[in-house]
Amino acid sequence: MIRNHFNKSYQVSKSKLSCQLENFLFELGSSSFSCSPYEVCLFLAWCDANGKTPVHVRNCSDIGVKKPVCKCPRRLALGTVKVKIAQLKALFEKMGRCGPWVQGKGNPAASEEVAIYQEQVREEQSLGHVAPSQAVPMFLPKVKIIAMYINRKLEEEMGGTQLLGIFGPGNKPGNNSWRLVGIGRTI
Ligand SMILES: [Zn+2]
Repeated sequence: MIRNHFNKSYQVSKSKLSCQLENFLFELGSSSFSCSPYEVCLFLAWCDANGKTPVHVRNCSDIGVKKPVCKCPRRLALGTVKVKIAQLKALFEKMGRCGPWVQGKGNPAASEEVAIYQEQVREEQSLGHVAPSQAVPMFLPKVKIIAMYINRKLEEEMGGTQLLGIFGPGNKPGNNSWRLVGIGRTI
């Protein structure tokens, strides 16, 4: 129940992505059951239309400017692309399309084509002077206090099961904060 609460926003964005994917594939005359790695790449490129990260052309005067107003292309940030690929992998896995993509079988989002697409996005953004968004560092004692508090709450709720909050940087563009990214079980 608690885990669901923490993962709610992730689940909402995943189901939104699922609807977008189905509609996109329907237009192509395909479906998520027959979707190929190439179609996954097409879908990711289509998602790019909603991007807000400027990928500057060479000599753009807004390079390094915090809120650029230039006409350079706007793309999805690399971190967002990575999250979408992870969500797509999970969607296909849920449908039974598991494992790496080999000879027309497996998870199309776990294919070499999609890995190359991600690498191309990374290259394009490093050439386009896109600074990777970095989390504001949170000092370890503060993380520990928060983790201890969450663990205590979880133990109360879960009847003494030792669970551990896992922290990571926020992955939304502009969300420069640490957040709880998962719940782990201590061994
Ligand atoms: Zn620019």
